[in-house]
Amino acid sequence: MEHLSEAQIRDYVSGTLSDEESDGLEDHFSECEDCFDQYLFLLEEDSSLPSTFTDEAVNRIVKEHPTFQQQKKSRSFAHYLVAAGLTLVLMMSGVFNLMTDSMDPDSFEQQPSLTEQILDQTGSLMDKMTNR
Ligand SMILES: [Zn+2]
Repeated sequence: MEHLSEAQIRDYVSGTLSDEESDGLEDHFSECEDCFDQYLFLLEEDSSLPSTFTDEAVNRIVKEHPTFQQQKKSRSFAHYLVAAGLTLVLMMSGVFNLMTDSMDPDSFEQQPSLTEQILDQTGSLMDKMTNR
């Protein structure tokens, strides 16, 4: 199987591919750690995307391709990649939420620590993804 090019993955990240092309890339991600790793890397690099998009994209891949989680030898590695990607997404969305929800600097300081919130959210998301 040929690996995806960085340009292909970038097109997927930016959402310019057709549904068919996207499906093809997602099929490859479900079978190839290297390209999924590259995908997560490019996702993290592209800060112009709405954070919900990256979150949904990762969840969609895992949901539509259960085999991705069932590959015995890569299971923990795959979870690590997904968790690393989600943590960054949650960090970004958490910061955005704090910026939009609490314009008052005083209430900003009363929020639970951002790190705690991120850990909580990551944990519950991982539970949802693994306890299906
Ligand atoms: Zn590949």
